[in-house]
Amino acid sequence: DFAEISIKDIDQIAKTSFPLCMRHLFEKVREDHHLKHGGRMQLGLFLKGVGLKVDDALAFWKAEFAQKVGAERFDKEYAYNIRHNYGREGKRTDYTPYSCQKVILSTPGVGDHHGCPYRHFSEENLRAALARMGVGSRIVEDVIDKARNRHYQLACTLTFEAGHGSSCDAGVNHPNQYFIESQKILQ
Ligand code: SF4
Repeated sequence: DFAEISIKDIDQIAKTSFPLCMRHLFEKVREDHHLKHGGRMQLGLFLKGVGLKVDDALAFWKAEFAQKVGAERFDKEYAYNIRHNYGREGKRTDYTPYSCQKVILSTPGVGDHHGCPYRHFSEENLRAALARMGVGSRIVEDVIDKARNRHYQLACTLTFEAGHGSSCDAGVNHPNQYFIESQKILQ
């Protein structure tokens, strides 16, 4: 398995191997130096599943949040939750990354960036995001069609296949599975 990723590789890996839901959150935290709770949970647990160790996770989030709220407030208000997700605080539950179903059924509000883009983005924003990923216009139409018909995971599978030039017979059912399938092809 792909047990570990390091912070220095993370931007590159996000571009090539993160599904759109996580890529969007990743880009937002880099851009805004902040994410609301739902986004921190969705991305944070995904990164944990991808193999980011707790100390690297703390460094990653701190580097961004410190630019917005300062290092001290980060340590006071946000670090606990990250350690908590890794089972280092509270009941010491080892929280698992969200499945597609869980992400698709989430209900992002104003200012939230979590959720599944194939469900929660406007058509216009989805088109723009797909274009940024380099998906060709004919495939974009297929993806939009699937999303419109509420086949979000099929839409994601088509995007995966377009981006990797390879079929994904198992389909996409978990963001971390998307990542693993991608790394299998790219490594
Ligand atoms: Fe993420 Fe799953 Fe939606 Fe793909 S289908 S964007 S992996 S939640």
